[in-house]
Amino acid sequence: MTSYVFITGGVVSSLGKGITSACLGAILEARGLTISMIKLDPYINVDPGTMSPFQHGEVFVTHDGTETDLDLGHYERFVRTAKGGRDSNFTTGRIYESVIAKERRGDYLGATVQVIPHITDEIKQCVQRGAGDADICLVEIGGTVGDIESLPFLEAIRQMGIEMGRDHVVYVHLTLVPYIPTSSEIKTKPTQHSVKELRSIGIQPDILVCRSVDPLPDAERKKIALFTNVPEKSVISAWDADDLYKIPAMMHDQGLDGIVARQLGLDLPEADLSEWDEIVEAKQNPEAQVHIALVGKYMGLKDSYISLVEALQHGGIHTRTRVKIHFIESRDIEEKGVGCLEGMDGIVVPGGFGDRGIEGKIETARFARENGVPYLGICLGLQVAVIEAARNLAGLKGAMSTEFDKNTPHPVIALITEWRDISGDTEERDEQSEMGGTMRLGAQSVTLQKGSLAARSYGRTDIEERHRHRYEVNNNYREQLEKAGMVFSGVSIDDLVEMIEFPEHPFFLASQFHPEFTSNPRDGHPLFINFIRAVRENCECELPEAAEG
Ligand code: GLN
Repeated sequence: MTSYVFITGGVVSSLGKGITSACLGAILEARGLTISMIKLDPYINVDPGTMSPFQHGEVFVTHDGTETDLDLGHYERFVRTAKGGRDSNFTTGRIYESVIAKERRGDYLGATVQVIPHITDEIKQCVQRGAGDADICLVEIGGTVGDIESLPFLEAIRQMGIEMGRDHVVYVHLTLVPYIPTSSEIKTKPTQHSVKELRSIGIQPDILVCRSVDPLPDAERKKIALFTNVPEKSVISAWDADDLYKIPAMMHDQGLDGIVARQLGLDLPEADLSEWDEIVEAKQNPEAQVHIALVGKYMGLKDSYISLVEALQHGGIHTRTRVKIHFIESRDIEEKGVGCLEGMDGIVVPGGFGDRGIEGKIETARFARENGVPYLGICLGLQVAVIEAARNLAGLKGAMSTEFDKNTPHPVIALITEWRDISGDTEERDEQSEMGGTMRLGAQSVTLQKGSLAARSYGRTDIEERHRHRYEVNNNYREQLEKAGMVFSGVSIDDLVEMIEFPEHPFFLASQFHPEFTSNPRDGHPLFINFIRAVRENCECELPEAAEG
């Protein structure tokens, strides 16, 4: 039987509940348990697929093609057994959608449909489905205790504690313990109030994780324990870490995994955190430093590219390189030129939607190609590289993606329905027109060309990677682009372009898929590792004097 750990948050949002949940998953997994992880999001959107990255950060895509909250990315990066998917992320909108559909079908046999029990029952069923057969399921509840929207979720998890027994359910509450500089005081009152709020809806937390700038002094730990009715040793201090990967050890050192195991009656082997120690060691002792330009559109909110930034850092960990990422607005390149790219050791153009800054990205691809700067293009980053090559190498003036210019004379990137000849085959036509309107999502197989940079990077020719896009390279232009020097080194089963490269260039590689979603700190990802390696070889970058030692 699966046991549950529910993680709620109080006082303010953005305390790092996702990271805390992921790290708790990591240390429990390090004691030999299998873990599943779920995020419950109280907002009304049915899924985060249509939410703006400006507001909400990145949309993370799981293996099965579900567009989810970015916290699922943290889970997959920290916990190997946690495989996110359709049943790992539920929003209020999705819960209501399902209950209303059942009501319309008559499933409730005429009963008055209410928040309790119908919505809460639906939540419980979803959580149990998402838990699968893992030993422990960690469930993070988005938002902050006290929000109107989160009430049904909190009520559902309260009921689960009663129904399953407290030896199968653990409540963890994450709060903020602020430091007031003017009076040099640490304040525990917000934590006291947050727990009071939680208790007023029937949940007594078993464990508190207190976020603060510095480690929590004993006096404050005692005070919090006394006022919240939580044992002193279960008040865990989570101070600001200079490195994310130090957090599993920080929590383990305070006995967090042991407290959970004891409550659930589990007799477990000692935690082996050596892999996390190695990561921290590698990050602290780099051999070189590289400067990478990330040329995108959502630079105001760094969370928009969180998986990508992490994946680049993983590349650094596995090559002992300090990776300095410079966020550059592609609009700025349009307005001020490519000057800001001078001095960059490598360039990444990430995925994106919408035409803002598109010419700046095309110019960026050109700069990288012409100046021999290592380039990694992802999704839109592949598409702009194709457009650039079409215009400047194949002489296709005005080449563009139909996403940005419906009337381009050379639609080198377009919806499949716009370029594939499917006349005569009605079945295929129906299928294709359906695909034209929808997004290609989730993991799909890719075949790599033997001997290509792509195949050498992966060390094999059959791979599987996750997608999230509508537009494709127009196969009718492939021959012309090949003549111009571009190699199509990866293709899908149905002959869609998946990877491109320029063999003459030190490292110019782009993928239609998103490799960043499958990178994690312990294993890294071959594309990012090889990209950083190539950047290092290309620039012979040294560690700056001051950063050594
Ligand atoms: N906008 C492009 C498409 O839909 C690229 C998407 C992306 O980069 N994820 O094909």
